[in-house]
Amino acid sequence: MSVLLSIDSVCKSFGPFQALDNIHLDIEQGEFIVLLGPSGCGKTTLLRSIAGFMQPDSGRIAIDGQDVSRLPPYRRPLNTVFQNYALFPHMTVLENVAYGPRRQGVNRAEARIKAREALAMVGLEALEDRFPRALSGGQQQRVALARAIVNQPKLLLLDEPLSALDMKLRKRMQLELKHLQAKLGIAFIFVTHDQEEAMTIADRIVVMNAGRIEQVGASSEIYSAPASRFVADFIGEANLIGYQASESGEIRLGIAHTPISSGAKDLLPHGVAVLRPEHLQVLDASSPASASCCELKGTVTDIVTVGSHTLVHSLIDGQSIVARTMGFPRADLVTGSAVRLGFNPAHLHLIGEPV
Ligand code: ATP
Repeated sequence: MSVLLSIDSVCKSFGPFQALDNIHLDIEQGEFIVLLGPSGCGKTTLLRSIAGFMQPDSGRIAIDGQDVSRLPPYRRPLNTVFQNYALFPHMTVLENVAYGPRRQGVNRAEARIKAREALAMVGLEALEDRFPRALSGGQQQRVALARAIVNQPKLLLLDEPLSALDMKLRKRMQLELKHLQAKLGIAFIFVTHDQEEAMTIADRIVVMNAGRIEQVGASSEIYSAPASRFVADFIGEANLIGYQASESGEIRLGIAHTPISSGAKDLLPHGVAVLRPEHLQVLDASSPASASCCELKGTVTDIVTVGSHTLVHSLIDGQSIVARTMGFPRADLVTGSAVRLGFNPAHLHLIGEPV
């Protein structure tokens, strides 16, 4: 794989507010990248800077080794799919898609062939004579996609393209997009603030916070080894428990009374331990914890059953902790009852904080 897009030291401010703070990012040919972060973290500003709709204050953006920082959007080898699809209402589906090649000087017959090929890629060949107003949201989204890929860009930018769709259609379109991207082999950069969506479709997720990149990695990596407290909290549900470490590698969690041998070297003396809810087991009142299991003792504060699983919220030494168990809860587990939670220390992920 070789680098397609290289973003180097990109900064952007709006007055005193720094929207992008020294962004460095390399994207490979054919990768599906998701920019993920809370509202206002700079995702759209970064996407618009790549597209050329916005000029960064400093830094360099290169595509295939060519510096495009000063090129207008239409001279960059990329295309953008917007949230509102931006279809031409007075043109049919076929005309909408053929518009791009026509603008590039391709003759009418050839442009229609290319448009039909693009429509076939998104499964809309039967609707080529319809006008956008006679299409469902999902169909309009596919037309917008066909229009964006018809000129075979090297890079496709997608700015929250599924946010207007209902949840079921959105989930279906996520998988369709993933398959389409694999078929085309074009790199996609997709913006969302929905972490489940990001984990479903991305080869690599770029987690952003307050204009900075916090972590770049595959979803499994980001979930199991978050690089910061922010990432741990933003991706999935997490119990963040303060810890102190001794020089010998022994960990003392703020809410557990027995020390845990981590076996790790070079631990920072304190920080947070990340423990995912699915790694906490609700122990039977009578059964002892297994030898490899650490135990927390507290009181149940809430039990939430969500069909396939149950969330058991507890208060342990003044801290709220959530455990996830499969199926329905045990009958003896009610709000106010004593609870014992067990976990394997191998599932603790430690994020040290410099003193
Ligand atoms: P969302 O998920 O809500 O779309 P985002 O992560 O895409 O958020 P951006 O649109 O990139 O966020 O905005 C980043 C920050 O820059 C925000 O605080 C926003 O208010 C600010 N901002 C963006 N454009 C401008 C502008 N033209 N003038 C002033 N501030 C702006």
